[in-house]
Amino acid sequence: MRTQSSVASDNKSPGSSTLAVHAGEARRKVVDSITDPIVCAATFTFPNTQAIIDFIEQKQPREEYGRYGNPGEKVVERKLAALEGGEEALLFSSGMAAMVGLLMAKLNAGDEVIFFDECYHRSREFCAKHLSRFGVVTRQVKACDYDAMESAIDDNTRLLVSESPTNPHLSIVDLERFAEIGKQYHVETLIDATLATPFNAQPIEYGIDYVLHSATKYLGGHNDLLAGVIIGGEEQMAPVRNLRGIMGAINSPHNMYLLERGLKTFELRMQRQNANGQAVAEFLEQHPRVEQVYYPGLESHPYHEVATRTMKGFGGLVTFLVKDADWRTTANIVDAVGIPRIAPSLGGVESLIEQPLVMSYYECTPEERRQFGILDNMVRYSCGIENKEDLIADLEQALEA
Ligand SMILES: *Cc1c(COP(=O)(O)O)cnc(C)c1O
Repeated sequence: MRTQSSVASDNKSPGSSTLAVHAGEARRKVVDSITDPIVCAATFTFPNTQAIIDFIEQKQPREEYGRYGNPGEKVVERKLAALEGGEEALLFSSGMAAMVGLLMAKLNAGDEVIFFDECYHRSREFCAKHLSRFGVVTRQVKACDYDAMESAIDDNTRLLVSESPTNPHLSIVDLERFAEIGKQYHVETLIDATLATPFNAQPIEYGIDYVLHSATKYLGGHNDLLAGVIIGGEEQMAPVRNLRGIMGAINSPHNMYLLERGLKTFELRMQRQNANGQAVAEFLEQHPRVEQVYYPGLESHPYHEVATRTMKGFGGLVTFLVKDADWRTTANIVDAVGIPRIAPSLGGVESLIEQPLVMSYYECTPEERRQFGILDNMVRYSCGIENKEDLIADLEQALEA
């Protein structure tokens, strides 16, 4: 998979910025262009009947029909596999399409999947409302409770799933322990590492089977595209690729161009967003109007030790609680910031802010919110690449308003 790139085929592994810029790309491209062309083709032609037969008998790697793949998409898949240190990457039209694609490809009626309960609410919804209709059983255990996860495993368990860091609480999974449980019980493991990115953590190195990213966030990085990716072993990924070809949850050639372009600056953005996240978290922690800050780079964070052991950086997402504030007072602070835009999502160059109660959990009952750990005075701040001094001065005026 990686041999087509002169960079990634080298045995001495290059740094992540070198990979982000060069991996997966041919050294020499069409018309000697430095960038990859956007191939707007719904279908690909064969010169004659024998060429079709050669292709089917896998003598000739090439494109066939747009739903099965596109040359630009293959470049980005090789680049992402190289960045993650995995054999094969498979792109989908969104992070959720990737999650649905993997679960549908891997699970059969009667199978069970176990989730750590701090998870993206749409993943939870897909399992509870939809996988259940196909006879798949979902069990949820408290995030990072490894004993509870082990106890929930039985003969029908096929997959263990968690995010790391989780959203919005930023709990960090001990990847080594998670992978070991999977190996011990012969159950595959999936980590949604959207908030970590391959710059900050590489779950495959710890023995995790599948890594999922919403490429909409840090990988694309510019708040201008949606995409999702799963990275795993070539053999394990084959049925997922096959199902994607049937589902058709694929990316347009233009979208792949944007993602490839966004990835060129991946490491630079991550370095800045890690630094901004740490600075904003430290500022908030000492502010008298702040009750609590959730950020794995802070010593006060319950998973700080695991994070320091398994991560290179702690990301750009910072969650905090406003002291003695009801939901309205908290909303006033969100409304008073001047630099971040109020919006869902995270990981792009523009800082974003939201109050989870209103943005994603407004339609939940108070009981459900309590269960998911969503508090009225909770704010989620996604650092972009702006200057940290400006972000902090802006937060200061909003907290004092
Ligand atoms: C955004 C997100 C998703 C879903 O990705 P989309 O690209 O929006 O479909 C899944 N997991 C996490 C952790 C996310 O932040």
